[in-house]
Formats: sequence, structure tokens, C-alpha cells
Amino acid sequence: MLRVVTRLTADSREISNTKFKNEITAALQEIYPVDKCGIFTQSLMELGAVVCMPNGTPRCTECPLQSLCSACAAGTQPAYPVKKKKAQRRIEEKTVLLMIHAGRLALQKRAGSGLLGGMWELPNLSGKADTAQIQKWLEKCGITDCRIQKGSPVCHIFTHIEWHMDSYLIECGKAAPDSDFTWITEQALEKEYALPTAFKKVYTQNRPL
Ligand code: SF4
Repeated sequence: MLRVVTRLTADSREISNTKFKNEITAALQEIYPVDKCGIFTQSLMELGAVVCMPNGTPRCTECPLQSLCSACAAGTQPAYPVKKKKAQRRIEEKTVLLMIHAGRLALQKRAGSGLLGGMWELPNLSGKADTAQIQKWLEKCGITDCRIQKGSPVCHIFTHIEWHMDSYLIECGKAAPDSDFTWITEQALEKEYALPTAFKKVYTQNRPL
């Protein structure tokens, strides 16, 4: 019904706005024919379903309200109703590392708050890191004698964010025993650790173990 009204009146207010909805409802209530509210509502709904349709071109030449319709007179029917623009998703680039040492995969815990807060993750760097940057980062973490190989890129979409992830498979020759990583077997990954889907995708696409 709201769609029909916005076209009839060429009202360019955003259709999901509560104030707008209330005003239209109040205006309609004033013109509802006494004792025929049901028929009036049903007629408007039917008009909206089969003549003044939501998608495609409204069938104005078949519309009983054509002579009253402001949008039709101006030829601007497709501009109504005005809908809220969806916010664009933010894109975050990451470099995700599948680090293997002695047949085990490195996991770490995410920070307690924010997206996937407190969950397990594959170690990762912000942005697209190259091999030299990864090497430097590994050394800072106490991981040396590494063989680094590029893996498949993976994209994961959250409601408001897209992660565009490069991945690298890293055979870690030496790992300092006091490193911040938790080294787990493939069986443990399947049974004991709930890895978020974004990281699971990276793991599955590259299968390092
Ligand atoms: S004339 Fe066209 S745009 Fe206007 S109410 Fe009828 S079908 Fe909708």
C-alpha cells in the first residue's frame, strides 16, 4: 500500500521511515469509507500486487487511479518508493598463515572484543604482506628456518565487512617453545577447536596437514 501511495503522491520520503509510515497511515484513515474499510484496504493491496507492481514497470494504463497519480503524470514512477541505500561493506585485506611445525598447525586466540572476539584463528597479518614481511614477522615470533609458499586466496563475507585473504603455507623449522601459538593436530582441529568459518575456508582450500 505504501508503495502505491508514494507513487500516487510522488512522495520522495524514505519508505521505511517510521514517521513517514505513521503519517501515511493517519492520512489513509481519514479517507477510509465508513463501513468499507476492509474493501478499501483490499483494493489498495490488490492494486499494489497486480497493477502498481513492486518490480518492473507499473501498468499505469490499466490503473483506475491514473488520472490522480502524480508520479505517472511526471513519468517518474520508477523513482518511487524511495528506499534506504544499503551501506557498502568495508573491505579488509589480510594475510593468513597456515604454519606447520612437527605435523601441527598453529592457532592463536583473537582479542576478546570485536568481530569474532575471543575465538580461535589462524595467525594473520593485516593487509597483503609479501614473503619478506612474513619472514620478518615470523622471526619476531620466534619462528625460524621456514619454507614459505603462497596458497590460494579466499574471500569471506560478513554482514558489514568482507575479508579478502591471501594465504601462505609455512613449514616452520624451529619454533620457540614460549611462542604465543597453540600447535594442534588435524584431529584436534576437527574435534576440539571451533575455528570460525572464514579461517576454516582458508584451511580447507589449502589443506596443509
Ligand atoms: S498510475 Fe501507475 S504509478 Fe500511479 S498508482 Fe497507478 S499503476 Fe501506480
